[in-house]
Amino acid sequence: MNRFLRWFGVKDRNDYVNHYFAWANFRSSIYMSVVIMILESWMLISLLQRWIAGDTTRSKTWFIEHLIWYLLFFGAALVMLLFALRYLKGKTKSPLPGKCVMVVFSTVSLYFGMSVSYSDYIKGEQILCFIMMVTFVFGLLNWRPYISIPVTSFVFWYFYHMMEQSPVVTMTYATQVNYFTMWICVMMLSLAVYSQRLSEATKDLKLEESSIQDELTGIPNMVYFRKKARNILLEEGVGDKVFLFLDLMNFKAFNEQMGFEMGNDCLRRMAKKVEEYFPEDLYARFSDDHFVVLATHNSIDERLQKLVDEVKHFYPNTGINLKVGGYRATDKDKDPSIACDHARYACSCVKKCFDKYYCEYDAKMDAAFHKRQYIITHVEEAVRKGYIQVYYQPIVWAKERTLCSVEALARWIDPEYGFLPPGEFIPALEEYRLIHYVDLEVLRQVCEQLKVGMEKSNHVVPVSVNFSQLDFELVDLPAEVERILSQYEIPRHMIHFEVTESALTEDSTLQQNLKAIRNTGVEVWLDDFGSGYSSLNVLKEYQLDVMKIDLVFLKHFHENEKSKKILQSIVTMADLIDLDTLTEGVEDEEQANFLESIGCKRLQGYLFGKPLPLKDFIEHCQTNHLVAE
Ligand code: C2E
Ligand code: CA
Ligand code: CA
Repeated sequence: MNRFLRWFGVKDRNDYVNHYFAWANFRSSIYMSVVIMILESWMLISLLQRWIAGDTTRSKTWFIEHLIWYLLFFGAALVMLLFALRYLKGKTKSPLPGKCVMVVFSTVSLYFGMSVSYSDYIKGEQILCFIMMVTFVFGLLNWRPYISIPVTSFVFWYFYHMMEQSPVVTMTYATQVNYFTMWICVMMLSLAVYSQRLSEATKDLKLEESSIQDELTGIPNMVYFRKKARNILLEEGVGDKVFLFLDLMNFKAFNEQMGFEMGNDCLRRMAKKVEEYFPEDLYARFSDDHFVVLATHNSIDERLQKLVDEVKHFYPNTGINLKVGGYRATDKDKDPSIACDHARYACSCVKKCFDKYYCEYDAKMDAAFHKRQYIITHVEEAVRKGYIQVYYQPIVWAKERTLCSVEALARWIDPEYGFLPPGEFIPALEEYRLIHYVDLEVLRQVCEQLKVGMEKSNHVVPVSVNFSQLDFELVDLPAEVERILSQYEIPRHMIHFEVTESALTEDSTLQQNLKAIRNTGVEVWLDDFGSGYSSLNVLKEYQLDVMKIDLVFLKHFHENEKSKKILQSIVTMADLIDLDTLTEGVEDEEQANFLESIGCKRLQGYLFGKPLPLKDFIEHCQTNHLVAE
């Protein structure tokens, strides 16, 4: 029954289908009106020619009547054309006035067809004009079956009735049958056109829906969100609207531990919750484990509190948690993508606070946000124009306190923002996967300065260069390192490659890359040991030369006896697996002496020197009698 009602045009015509039909009908109306305008112009010209030539076979009234009739029909086609064009160009939103004109235009066309064909018929000629007009109206335009069936029937019946009234011609049985068949044909044509368009519209709708839907969670995606958010802001104004950026904490670890299926399940549950808590609002999956909502501000605190509580209990003891950043819309013309970026930034700030789950973008964040945008958009320029500079910090032998090597640390000295420490630009460049620009530039400058040093036969020592784990994904790192070292003819043992502990995963490509680099003679050092949470287990998978013990272990050296014991066991453990140790962050003699006593081989820290530009570093070494052994 439902299927029949749908086919009949009574049920299930949603906005999309209605719009599709209106669009198709207006397009067809354009063809129809243009053809009729050309036809009527031609008729008008030939009528005027006959009149001017003084045709006496027709009366003056006949000429005037026909002139009015042609002009009317021409006018109706012109009005139809204008309405159709306005709608198709998007100048009018409601199709209703255009539809009314279409009904009037169709009625005039049918009436014209009938009256012309009637006068032909009584002269014993064909009823071609009638056939042309019904085909035009019912074949080109889409009418719902519950309209087209009675209307075609009425038109055919009415014209039949007119023909029957003719005092001149009598209809034969064969003509009656032909006429009946023609009615059936036109009606079928109209029904076929309708059902064909309906199935096209439904297919189109499905395609459109799938292009605006997130495949995994079934909620809208960002294409839809951006478009819709823009319309909402333009139509309703900013009011007290707020963009929310929701980020599931610890999702990546959860995914790795529990597997993708559980990860997907978690995202689907999250999407369901967003739907449940913001049913009236616009929401979407932003990417990965991020969601966005355009909500009205009132009562969001309460809703967010409940949502965060629920998410915490999704998978107890897995660390799954929710943090939310908000950005209050201030300008209805603001690009929703930028608004989401602001909310995302606010969310990245709240991530650092253990006891907060929500914060809103404010003026302070705005300044930091713009600085970060500046960093990610200017990194290439900074490399090109020499704003990235290398500072050197000494590393000494614990026993002799002589210089054993140096660590190269990047600084960004910017004409607009001044001095930027790595803590300000490295995380942003890592987040936007641009870190390789800086790392390769640091290596290049180090090699350039080493070459100059070696040529002047200064005492040069090996240099440690920091690399991010992302560098391995972003460039062919072994090849790039080889290229730069060869370019400056640097002996491989002069470069140490520092990678942080968190980089070491069980990923075998990383292992192979590091092995390839180490095989060329470059030492591989493990940075920041103890600062992250990577498993000790991976240590046995990697071939490393030195382990750098993170400076956190020296933080409470004087107050906490336990930190000494921890340091001692780390050094012993490293010894057992034939790893040399270096402790970072050494700031006083007591620490240095202790580290030497437990067998830590190398030391680095402010006690021996802060990171300095090359010239100052050389001076520092001279004044402090810091020499290579
Ligand atoms: P890191 O590799 O662990 O570098 C050591 C950091 O500790 C340096 O900070 C250094 O100035 C600081 N430090 C050294 N001795 C002491 C001390 O005695 N006490 C204290 N409190 N701090 C000390 P810096 O230069 O700000 O670098 C911070 C981090 O930025 C580095 O940590 C490294 O992870 C990253 N970084 C620096 N340059 C680069 C680079 O070129 N590429 C990459 N990927 N990361 C870099
Ligand atoms: Ca380092
Ligand atoms: Ca370190």
